[in-house]
Amino acid sequence: MTIKRFAVLTSGGDAPGMNAAIRAVIRTGLNRGAEVYAIYEGYKGLIAGGSQIRPMNWDSAGGILQRGGTVIGTARCDEFRTREGRRTAALHLIEREIDSLIVIGGDGSLTGANLFRQEWSGLLTELVQEGKITQEVADRHAYLGIVGLVGSIDNDMFGTDMTIGTDTALHRITEAIDALSSTAASHQRTFVVKVMGRNCGYLALMACLATGAEWVLIPECPPDTDDWQEKMIADLKAGRAAGRRESIVVIAEGAQDRNGKPIGSTEITELLEKRLGEEVRATVLGHVQRGGKPSAFDRNLGTLMGHAAVETVLATTPETEPQLICLRGNRITTAPLMECVERTRAVAKAIADHDYERAMDLRGGGFKQSFRTLRTLLRSLPHKPEPGQKRLRLAVMNCGAPASGMNTAVRAAVRIGLDRGHTMLSVTNGFLGLIDGHIQEMDWMSVNGWASMGGSELGTSRDIPKGRELYSIAQNIEKFGIEGLLIIGGWSGYKGAYELYRQREAYAAFNIPIICLPASINNNLPGSELCVGADTALNNIVWAVDKLKQSAIAQQRCFVVEVMGRHCGYLALMSGLATGAERVYMHEEGITLRDLTFDLEHIVAGFKAGKRLGLVIRNENANPVYTSDFIAALFEEEGGSVFDVRQTILGHVQQGGDPSPFDRIQATRLAARCMEFLIENAQTEAPSSAFIGMGAGGLQIQSIEEFPRLADEQNQRPKKQWWLDLRPIAKILSEPMAPTETPKA
Ligand code: ADP
Repeated sequence: MTIKRFAVLTSGGDAPGMNAAIRAVIRTGLNRGAEVYAIYEGYKGLIAGGSQIRPMNWDSAGGILQRGGTVIGTARCDEFRTREGRRTAALHLIEREIDSLIVIGGDGSLTGANLFRQEWSGLLTELVQEGKITQEVADRHAYLGIVGLVGSIDNDMFGTDMTIGTDTALHRITEAIDALSSTAASHQRTFVVKVMGRNCGYLALMACLATGAEWVLIPECPPDTDDWQEKMIADLKAGRAAGRRESIVVIAEGAQDRNGKPIGSTEITELLEKRLGEEVRATVLGHVQRGGKPSAFDRNLGTLMGHAAVETVLATTPETEPQLICLRGNRITTAPLMECVERTRAVAKAIADHDYERAMDLRGGGFKQSFRTLRTLLRSLPHKPEPGQKRLRLAVMNCGAPASGMNTAVRAAVRIGLDRGHTMLSVTNGFLGLIDGHIQEMDWMSVNGWASMGGSELGTSRDIPKGRELYSIAQNIEKFGIEGLLIIGGWSGYKGAYELYRQREAYAAFNIPIICLPASINNNLPGSELCVGADTALNNIVWAVDKLKQSAIAQQRCFVVEVMGRHCGYLALMSGLATGAERVYMHEEGITLRDLTFDLEHIVAGFKAGKRLGLVIRNENANPVYTSDFIAALFEEEGGSVFDVRQTILGHVQQGGDPSPFDRIQATRLAARCMEFLIENAQTEAPSSAFIGMGAGGLQIQSIEEFPRLADEQNQRPKKQWWLDLRPIAKILSEPMAPTETPKA
């Protein structure tokens, strides 16, 4: 059997998360018995050859997961645009018998890769004619396998829901806008913020959705009137009059008007300063958006895509056309690379042709829906109800432990409800407030600024109503005229909603639509693959573990880190994947003495071989006997003088903090859909009750009757947990097969 040899390179603009992808490519490749090369400095290195093309071993990929940018360097390379350049590149691959290439870059880099592969046999013929290779060598390498990964903060590639780096860029942007909002509010100032994205308005749109900025300008959907400046000024003035102390206008890099004239931040700043009669400041965020540590999401996206790239390379046959690794509906999949690149180009062309409807269509349903939702949320005041329209009274509450993003969801729900002409009520402290009648009306400004606030402003509790409490709830539903209820929360919210649904016969008042929006850091709710709050918690864990790792750099030390999640190992596994933990213990798999003995031997051997740091992550309920204390003590004792052990229980920091951009966006999207559900169902004879969530196919709403079928009640988690499929990948990446073996140069 011939050993597969392939190379990985990063090209074009750098993006956080590229290192995670490189690490996964190297380690998965080695694990699968392949020989892996890295090409330094993108196509430049490929053309330069020599030491720019280096064999990789297990340790080459060590300590890079948490680093921004790309450790193998990236570059723009005009020579690769020439046939001569590509011929030299081909020679350098052939010399090393490398016959597949994994390219991590933007659409330019991937177009280059595709062209390279199309020309491959022609290039080899020329090399034979020049006498640089023999015909026999050319025949042996008749095909070049190409697999592409999109590393780009712009999220501009057709075919994938997210590109590597976008989520981190959104972290940087939301942090900046949150910071600007507080200073803007102090002075009643307006800020104009310009964000990156080239032709794509994704970063600008999502940054607005995530922060509560007031105006957004994106290339795909320019303002629809010629006097849009007047409208913008009127809206900002109306916002001030309604009590907004801060005003933020976000401009995408490629923003333009309907006629294709670019809209710049200086122009907008000057206009607003003149017309608003107040200080206006412009902030061009620039390259900070690209920089810094990758978010948990980007580390895991890079890791999973890198892993999939190797699987795809190994499965490549001469007939396979170049493939792009994509994320669709929370699953990694592949698509023909060139088709994706071409359709990406089509958006740019539609914008250049001023065909904005097509540009929006090509961006997809999620993008369009988010833009529609945003236009409601950033209004200074709601639309007036239509004359004669039925005005519903809809209530919203939080349940369970606090999860970051709850406030974001409440804000979206309240504003959307009000804008549709309905009365919005809020319930304090979950079911306790419903029992005690702590219910009040919300207005537009009552949720101002909530998009970026962690915790639960409404208050939340874990109580599940029972017995006479149900009677009190029925009374209060009638007293306050509640015609629909949105429960944003965790397990107790779902249980409570199910209980009210079950008791419909006994209490007529419960015959209203109820919908649950999953918000729990544990990510343990049926009907949704991702709960609001889990991403923030994951980032909290990852930042903390990064710091722990740094603290241990001087010693040989093993950390045992305990994370939350109750009986659900999601946080443990995903944080293990994002931090490169050697071992993850979770309740789903339990812990046995044999596991501990095996892991201990493995870790001791690793430290003896020169390893400086060990990391074990344990889910809080992984096993009642083998506690974190126990494991730490056992490892300390057995580690002897080779390494020492520290235990860290991260605790409630995991529940706190400003919601991550992902959680804010998710909370807003889900809340918007929940409100549609309530409004529709509250006007039918037999309203249904349901829970909403993100499934592999996108947003899904399921009847509350499904709760017992989908839920593992004893362990308070879904019966089917999609992320358990990622377990083998975490194992592959943390366990060297041959730690010091390096393919021959
Ligand atoms: P990105 O990959 O981020 O879109 P660029 O468009 O700058 O960045 O492309 C990066 C590199 O990819 C270029 O410097 C060039 O080496 C190569 N490349 C881009 N487009 C082509 C092309 N049409 N043919 C050959 N190589 C290309």
